[in-house]
Amino acid sequence: MTKIIADYLVKNTFVISMNEERTCFERGAIAIHGKRIVLVGDEVDVLPKVRAAKVIDAGGAVTHPGFVDAHVHFMNTARGAFSDVLDTSTMMNTLRRWWDAVEEEDERAATFLNCLEMLSNGTTCFLEAGTLQFPDASAEAAEAVGIRGFIGDPFLWDLPASQGTQDMTRAPRDLDRSLNLLGGQLKRNKEDALIKGCVVLFGLGSASNDLMRAAKERADQSGVIFSQHQSFDHHDTAVDEERLGSRPMRHYADCDLIGENCTFSHMNDLDPDEVGIVQQAKMSVVWCPVTSMNLGAKAARNAKHLEVSRGGGNVALASDGVSSGCRYDVGLQGLMALLSTRAKADSRTTMTALDVLELATIGGAKAVGMERDIGSIEVGKYADIVIRRSDLPEAQPFSDPIQSLVYNTGSKSIWKVIVNGELVWDEGRPVRVEAGSIYSEAQQSHWRMMDKLGLTSRYHRRPMPDTK
Ligand SMILES: [Zn+2]
Repeated sequence: MTKIIADYLVKNTFVISMNEERTCFERGAIAIHGKRIVLVGDEVDVLPKVRAAKVIDAGGAVTHPGFVDAHVHFMNTARGAFSDVLDTSTMMNTLRRWWDAVEEEDERAATFLNCLEMLSNGTTCFLEAGTLQFPDASAEAAEAVGIRGFIGDPFLWDLPASQGTQDMTRAPRDLDRSLNLLGGQLKRNKEDALIKGCVVLFGLGSASNDLMRAAKERADQSGVIFSQHQSFDHHDTAVDEERLGSRPMRHYADCDLIGENCTFSHMNDLDPDEVGIVQQAKMSVVWCPVTSMNLGAKAARNAKHLEVSRGGGNVALASDGVSSGCRYDVGLQGLMALLSTRAKADSRTTMTALDVLELATIGGAKAVGMERDIGSIEVGKYADIVIRRSDLPEAQPFSDPIQSLVYNTGSKSIWKVIVNGELVWDEGRPVRVEAGSIYSEAQQSHWRMMDKLGLTSRYHRRPMPDTK
């Protein structure tokens, strides 16, 4: 029998495939050749058919598709820069100053750190939220780490800032500026590129109909996703309603500005008509539960993410920004989505651990327009997979692996992460880059930015204390 040649064979693993039938292979194996999965199934069937250069024995632990973080701002070098009880308006204005002052080396440092953090938490693909000042430097850094992702153009908007926020000097709200930059990141979209571009507006009522139309048309023509922040809370939907004369999602539907390639983030404040519109448009909604709770979004108490999902709409999960989302960890977001849903519904029967995995994998894949290539462990798809470990107290006893990783072990059980067929995270460390120098760059950037903005930390210690 001619054997299938593979670069990697992952064996002795509980495979959660997330295919259409949600098949799990209790003692499964996965063969990877080049960038893609060439065989998956029960170990007893796979092993005799494969000749592999490298074998990974997972010791019975779980392998599942990599998570997709469908809305992220690369700025975790700002971690700890603000008080954790700063009101949202002050925090947003401080972030605006941060974005106005950041230099290329700062954004490179933040992207390296962000990408490491995402990989360490099992994220293999991200969708950046259109708030990078130096997208080329970020794309280079993300590519070096070996994660997959999509990047947007910097701050595309053309309507005045809503009350309580100040304008950004570097990125004035202007239609011509935005139209000139729109689609600039699509230059990355070569067939096999790890980091690609998509169309991103800032959103939250900051785009005119003209800018929205240009964005949607550009996304349609280029076959990419159009993403923006939308309907975070009553304050932005009220401004939209006043300006547009109707609920924002109703207006976008009436003007033909939404469709299957639209991925709007937050969407906490949707009325029942808008829930129907979102489902009918077959668009994606990105749920950022930690941000919603952390920033006290009142609308999130009645948010309809689960209803959108149950009604056939697509829902993904995301970490959002460092000050709001706490950790770039889709597993944490999923657990919080589940817990907040149960708390709102006064019921334990609303959402399951499998629902969390669906949002984190196939939901995310569709939200970034890659459902045919990632999101499940199936032959022909890119080998973007996470291999867990089971030698943890939280992982005992081994009984229901889906419940175990969602409720019990979280990111702690992540052992190896493969992206595009390449091992990029191994036993707590990145494989392609050196973590120590990335942490040091991030620390230097943090102090530089704190100095520049006149921010002080309560525990201001510099240089870092010698721990030797
Ligand atoms: Zn955001």
